[in-house]
Amino acid sequence: MRAADIIRRKRDGGELTPAEVGAFVAGTKPGGWPEYQLSALLMAIYFRGMTAAETATLTAAMTDSGVRVDLADVPGTKVDKHSTGGVGDKTSLILGPLAAACGVVVPMMSGRGLGHTGGTLDKLESIPGFRVDLSLDEFRAALREVGIGMIGQTADVAPADKVLYALRDVTATVESVPLITASILSKKLAEGISGLVLDVKCGRGAFMKTLLEARELAESLVTVGTANGLRVEAVITAMDAPLGRAVGNALEVAECVAILSGDGKRAADDLSELSVLLAARMVRLAGVESTLEAATVRVRQALTDGSARAVFRRMVAQQGGDPRVADDPWGVLPAAPHRVSVPARRAGYVTAIDAELVGTAAMRLGAGRARAKDAVDPAVGVWVEAPVGTRVATGEGLFTVHYRDAATPAAALPLLEAAVTIGDAAPTKTPLVLEVIG
Ligand code: URA
Repeated sequence: MRAADIIRRKRDGGELTPAEVGAFVAGTKPGGWPEYQLSALLMAIYFRGMTAAETATLTAAMTDSGVRVDLADVPGTKVDKHSTGGVGDKTSLILGPLAAACGVVVPMMSGRGLGHTGGTLDKLESIPGFRVDLSLDEFRAALREVGIGMIGQTADVAPADKVLYALRDVTATVESVPLITASILSKKLAEGISGLVLDVKCGRGAFMKTLLEARELAESLVTVGTANGLRVEAVITAMDAPLGRAVGNALEVAECVAILSGDGKRAADDLSELSVLLAARMVRLAGVESTLEAATVRVRQALTDGSARAVFRRMVAQQGGDPRVADDPWGVLPAAPHRVSVPARRAGYVTAIDAELVGTAAMRLGAGRARAKDAVDPAVGVWVEAPVGTRVATGEGLFTVHYRDAATPAAALPLLEAAVTIGDAAPTKTPLVLEVIG
């Protein structure tokens, strides 16, 4: 089977056979297809798309390019959550322990942040000692003993995705629904889960800017996940403003601990609401409760009775981190040496905060990375002092910027100033959940 023939068929709008899809994925192995042929087929897929059947075959082949974690000897139903990425999106650190406290086994393999969106691994690594590189045996032990493990995708998880994603990044072929679907699901299927809750972000700070685009991705993820034997639900949620208050790794961990501790003053409603909502779906998918209502009651109980925080503490200890983070986060987490406030230029109501600008500002402070090989500074970031809907006086703080290097605020402050819109009237509250699919 010649690569050029497969490329031609897709270029002309044809449907690839399972053998052709298999040849493409096999072509990502060392000594396989040259990068120009892999890239040419990616571009043909970008323009011509793929049917659900082709995408399902591509997903399975990409999963099978590496290991599928065998969790047969870990009792319990394994369910995970995946978010398509947002600014201040730290729900994994809250809902993972919440779901585990309710009896779900949560084998979470995550990625690092890139661009204006953050990554779960970077947040976890701001906890001194926390290891995201557990061996698979250590991962299985964590799942057995604590009910949750949060680790990085090892080199042998979906290696075809690593090759293809790197090529997509430099050939302007990232924004393709079948390619995104196969990329996300191939890594999740490798976790050995039976259920998956997807949080498809939609809005200014998200990959998918419109509801139409978000719906297309959500439907594709649900269809293709189901075809690969997963129970999948997708929730499309708004990502116009940052989620919660913190954007930056240690700041985000501290905010999660505040929520797990029931500290309403330092916690944000949207973050807590979304974490409960997604965790409840995980609990229902796992069959722990049969209705969403009962699952929500159970999850809220785990939040208020301290059992989710206890799971978080045990998870941190199990993975080598300092468990005191669950009780006294700022006694343990790295803090930036300097702070500066961004004041409101006029009085009124905060009607919008552009999540992408805030995410980019945090990245410029060093909280995120512009290129995959960049390092992140765990201590720096942005704290949103005045979320959407807050009434502010002139000069009142909109953000507190936590920084290390004296040169970085100059790169971040103009973005933060531009991010906020202040109007005369209070904005109408927009829903967090835009649609549920599956
Ligand atoms: N996240 C992924 O893992 N893959 C994509 O293609 C896009 C987002």
